[in-house]
Amino acid sequence: MTRTPIVAGNWKMNKGTAQEATALINELKAALLESSGNGAEVVVCPPFTALAAAKQAIGASPIALGAQNVFWKASGAYTGQIAPQMLVDLGVSHVIIGHSEARGRFGVAEPDFTPDVLKQFGETDVTVNRKTRAALAAGLVPIVCIGETLTERQNGHTDVVVQTQVQGALEEIGSDDVTRIVFAYEPVWAIGTGEVCGADEADRVCGVVRAAVAALYEETAAQAVRVQYGGSMKPDNAPDLLTRPHIDGGLIGGASLKASDFAAIIRAAQS
Ligand code: PEP
Repeated sequence: MTRTPIVAGNWKMNKGTAQEATALINELKAALLESSGNGAEVVVCPPFTALAAAKQAIGASPIALGAQNVFWKASGAYTGQIAPQMLVDLGVSHVIIGHSEARGRFGVAEPDFTPDVLKQFGETDVTVNRKTRAALAAGLVPIVCIGETLTERQNGHTDVVVQTQVQGALEEIGSDDVTRIVFAYEPVWAIGTGEVCGADEADRVCGVVRAAVAALYEETAAQAVRVQYGGSMKPDNAPDLLTRPHIDGGLIGGASLKASDFAAIIRAAQS
């Protein structure tokens, strides 16, 4: 089965003013005009504060707009939370759910992030599932992040961690909906560290994700689900990663903040 690759830029807490987001999107649009290929979906995920400006800057170009989080309730006393329909209303079509930085599974030691602070961020498989179901119900494409920490990898638990996270995310989700979900395999130790997972191993674990979907649904659904790799993807390592059979695009952090680098990764996904 041919799956359309999807390359999404996770801007994290960067470029969150209207001016910054507009400038980056205009640069990206210019860089993509030079691109010869097509056939990859492109998504940018700015901070909430820049979504409206980003939508305007995207204009009629085929770039899709994503958010970096969502809450599962429609409205109510949930200070600081954003409902799926609020995102839809802004023209958002995709949403990142369960990023390791939201799950509190940090790959890099952050002096400010004491265990107590981590608990406050603590996304779990249960909240990831609720958010995924709410996003699907609102017509959003959830980009569900999964991946092991360095300790889990060193202890030989990579596959079971990934399988458990996939199963947790998919609770009570029907076979019609599962193919709308994009999984992002993001080994926590590779995010923002410059340490990329080797292409053979990244492809193998993306295959484990697909097999975990196949264990819950029919094989055709598993073959249709797209699985991205994320973790220090850059223009130089992207061609090797993005030509592997189980890797259907990338979730890109740092390199998505530089239009020429992000465009080069998109081109690698298109070829
Ligand atoms: C991410 O934040 O999802 C990510 C993959 O970051 P980076 O590309 O910077 O490692």
